[in-house]
Amino acid sequence: MLSWDDYHKEEAAPASAATANIANATPAMMDQTVEQKVELNAEPASETKPAPTSKPSPAQENTPAPDSVAAANSPEIFAKAAEAVNNLDITAGLEELEMGAARVSVDEKAMINCRADLNQLVPFKYEWAWQKYIDGCANHWMPQEINMTADVATWKDPEGLTDDERRIVMRNLGYFSTADSLVANNLVLAIYRLITNPECRQYILRQAFEEAIHTHAYQYCIESLAMDEGEVFNMYREVPSVAKKAAWSISHTHELSDPTFTTGTLETDQTLLRNLIGFYAVTEGIFFYCGFTQILSMGRRNKMTGVAEQFQYILRDESMHLNFGIDVINQIKLENPHLWTDTLQQEAIQMILEGTQLEIDYARDTMPRGVLGMNAAMMEEYLHFIANRRLSQLGLPEQFAGAQNPFPWMSEIMDLRKEKNFFETRVIEYQTGGALTWN
Ligand code: FE
Repeated sequence: MLSWDDYHKEEAAPASAATANIANATPAMMDQTVEQKVELNAEPASETKPAPTSKPSPAQENTPAPDSVAAANSPEIFAKAAEAVNNLDITAGLEELEMGAARVSVDEKAMINCRADLNQLVPFKYEWAWQKYIDGCANHWMPQEINMTADVATWKDPEGLTDDERRIVMRNLGYFSTADSLVANNLVLAIYRLITNPECRQYILRQAFEEAIHTHAYQYCIESLAMDEGEVFNMYREVPSVAKKAAWSISHTHELSDPTFTTGTLETDQTLLRNLIGFYAVTEGIFFYCGFTQILSMGRRNKMTGVAEQFQYILRDESMHLNFGIDVINQIKLENPHLWTDTLQQEAIQMILEGTQLEIDYARDTMPRGVLGMNAAMMEEYLHFIANRRLSQLGLPEQFAGAQNPFPWMSEIMDLRKEKNFFETRVIEYQTGGALTWN
């Protein structure tokens, strides 16, 4: 198990051995085949990564022996490759692209059931989707950047936290460590192929990576604090208030993650809308809010500040995921008004109410008593406020008259203008590290 210090010791290792090997290569080495050069790069790169165990990965174990590389390097294989390129028939590929060689016009683009070439990103029809992709990239961060040293000391100290505070940390890492994987799987295995617009898909790809970073962040917290991984990662099966939320989300991805599922009928298009509401408006829009509020409140009280900072970054990403999802749902409604029937609107309201109730149950389970200046009743009020917000974002009537926000500081954390300041230094670092210059 790696501690915070171990990670950083390894990160501070000297420049990549791969670079050193290339710099020291003799002319004879530089004459080696492409395959061998790739191998020259590949092997040392793995040495620079943190290595939790010294066992070689299956890929390393299966690296071809020199004999088999030499056999593949025969003149016949070059001749076969050249012949295949010369004889490449591009008509088969164009037929697959449904619209053939025609250029895509903006009018042909649509959120779902679109037959225009999905490999052409431009011209943009949905500038908002592209802008969210750009904003998401500008907010890039990684879990290892956050110092967990104080959290480790607090967690190890028997007096560091109360039992109720420990319960909150454990339950939330338990829920979130699985929840972001559920969201990622739904994105990649269910909705990506059904959203037929390249700029939206570009954002979905970015979002999918952010979900991976979030799961990484929870794993990083769990590992840093030396928690029982089995206990934390199995809460979604074993702790009822966590299991119910996970089960509710999973129930909305089942049908769509079937690879034979397609849209194109009233029924299937409505199923896609239910999935989008279930994941964007409820899972990311309601199920995350009790836990975020609890952990951020802990950080505001100067406890578990590393975990709280991880959650703060995640909340910023999540508020963008939510806004993207709401825009997608509303755009689909706009382009396909026949889908948004009275019955589906009633169902959508019921979904929001179900999600709100499950999150209230979670609040009660995680806060049997008042803790961190809040209690389950205040959280219930907050969740009513959040539910009203989700309903109105979807164009549906609010269900909790007069609900107020007892935690106005949560809105400040999500404020986009502050987001820019918060990320200022990191954005500059990433852009310098990743930018190419041509002069
Ligand atoms: Fe998300």
